[in-house]
Order: sequence, then structure tokens, then C-alpha cells
Amino acid sequence: MNTPHFSFELFPPRTPEAVAKLPAVISKLAAARPEYFSITYGAGGSTQDGTYETMMAVVNHTGVEVAPHLTCVGSTFANIAALLDRYRAAGVKRIVALRGDLPATAMSPSAPGDFHYASELVSFIRKTHGNAFQIEVAAYPEMHPQATGPTADFDHFCRKVEAGADGALTQLFYNPEAYFEFMERCQKAGIRIPVVPGIMPITNYANTVRFCAGCGADLPRWIHLRLEELKDDKPALIEFGIGAVTRLCETLLRNGAPSLHFYTINQVQPTLRLCENLALAARRSAV
Ligand SMILES: Cc1cc2nc3c(=O)[nH]c(=O)nc-3n(C[C@H](O)[C@H](O)[C@H](O)COP(=O)(O)OP(=O)(O)OC[C@H]3O[C@@H](n4cnc5c(N)ncnc54)[C@H](O)[C@@H]3O)c2cc1C
Repeated sequence: MNTPHFSFELFPPRTPEAVAKLPAVISKLAAARPEYFSITYGAGGSTQDGTYETMMAVVNHTGVEVAPHLTCVGSTFANIAALLDRYRAAGVKRIVALRGDLPATAMSPSAPGDFHYASELVSFIRKTHGNAFQIEVAAYPEMHPQATGPTADFDHFCRKVEAGADGALTQLFYNPEAYFEFMERCQKAGIRIPVVPGIMPITNYANTVRFCAGCGADLPRWIHLRLEELKDDKPALIEFGIGAVTRLCETLLRNGAPSLHFYTINQVQPTLRLCENLALAARRSAV
């Protein structure tokens, strides 16, 4: 296993306490030398300023590259153009281009807004800014929950690549076979962009079940049962989660994953412990 590369996702803090803690969170995570921090963005612009401020906090505290997420559903060409200009003026070189989620009525083909799918956002960025931004898009090894089927969903992923995506970050998953099968489909379709697994640390029973249900990810039965058993013993649950996710990451890296993107949920310890375990494993295999 080669020395792994990581990137980290942050979300804009929502309470004054979380805002106050953010610089320390960023500095501690930056110590693991991530390739970049990505920062989430609320569909419909709900956390637009929060994304910008969090991004600037990373720039000011660490100098590590940033990649703001940008969701397009419900937005106009003018809104998106203004945001892209703002990001470009701030020196941003990478964007995570997404559709986002709004209530079902807001996503019908007749809904207001100039965009309905992420592929349209990718085309728009390329049309208006050429290659000024590296564009990452979302990939779903276990299928996007609203897709009509795995083949249609994969075809829609291919459209984002054809529109100009440079790379993809996956939805969280705990079943590595789903990622390997997705990569086989990419290989057969001639898709060569890096598809980086999105890794969600496990630190809590209810949240893990909720996250998986929300995005249609399979929570393997053995993990579910162990988390349920340990749900009232937080230290033991955290140790179990670190072990299970370390093994998932090792399996992915050993079998060709180009790097890993951690959904940190603004928590330092789980992500840093995973990175330390993976760096140690890489050093062991190099000896
Ligand atoms: C790495 C990552 C980061 C994320 N960050 C954020 C964030 O910051 N903020 C946020 O609000 N959400 C975020 N999300 C969630 C994301 O917005 C949702 O999963 C959303 O439902 C889909 O976004 P998408 O970009 O994958 O959409 P798309 O690629 O547009 O796909 C959405 C659905 O439409 C279908 N589809 C695509 N094109 C067509 C077409 N031409 N015709 C018919 N059907 C089509 C697809 O199969 C899929 O079911 C993130 C997800 C991931 C994986």
C-alpha cells in the first residue's frame, strides 16, 4: 500500500460555539496534510455565506487548497455566475459541482431555476470559465436513491464526465464491493477520471443508521448488529467503528482507490485516527 492521500469535507458551522471552535478544528485536521478541504453548500443557497466564510477560514488558518461545493437546483444562471466569479476572485481552483436536494416539487422539470441536473452545472462552468476550475462531481456506487435504476444512474454519471468533470467523490458506503463494481463499469465505459471513495467515520449508532438510510447506502448487517449492541458504550463503539472503517479504507487503497475523501462532520479525532492507522499500515507494507 502506497502512502495514502486524503481530502477532508467540512460543513459551515451553524452555532456560535461551533463557529468559535472551527479554527482549531481546521488547524488540527490540516496537520494530517490533506490535499484539500471541501466545504458543503446548502441547496437553494441556504448556506452560501457559510460556505464562503468556512472556505476563507481554511485559507487564512492553513493555506491548504479549498474546494467549495456548489449546488445548482433552483438556481439561475445569474446566481451561479456570480458565485463562480466570487470563488475565482478568491483564488479557488477546484469546485465540487452538484445538483443538491430540494423538495420534490422544486425538482420537477417545470420547476423554477435554470438547472435540473449536475451535468448542466458542469457544462455551465466549462462554458463560462473554461479550465479555470478543476471540477469534482458526485458518484453513487450503490445508486442515487432517486434514480430509476443502476444503469440509468451510471449513464447520468457518464454525462457529468462528458460535460467536463475532472474527478468524482463517492457517496458514503461501507461495502467495498459496490465501489469495485462501479470502477469496473467505469473501466468498461472508458471513464478514466479518478473516483475517490467518500468515507464516513462511524462514531454513533443512530447517526450511522440515519446517514445510510438517507442516502441509500447499505449498512452491512454485521456492522449494524455490533453498533446496536455497543450503542450505550461510546468508547467501545468508537473503537469498533475505527477498526471497521480502517479495514474498509485499507481494502479500498490496496485495490486501487486513488485517495480517500473523509466526511469529517467537523470532528477531528475520528478522521485523524483513521489517517494515522492508514499511514502506519502504509509504512508497515513499505518495510
Ligand atoms: C461527495 C458529495 C458531496 C455532496 N455535497 C452536498 C452539498 O454540499 N450540499 C447538498 O445540498 N448536497 C450535497 N450532496 C448531496 C447531493 O446534492 C444529492 O445526492 C443530490 O440528490 C444529487 O446530486 P448530484 O450532483 O449527484 O445530482 P445528479 O448527478 O444531477 O443526479 C441526481 C439524480 O438525477 C438523475 N439524473 C441525472 N441526470 C439526469 C437526466 N438528464 N435525466 C434524468 N435523470 C437524471 C440521477 O440518476 C440521480 O438520480 C453531496 C453528495 C455527494 C456524494
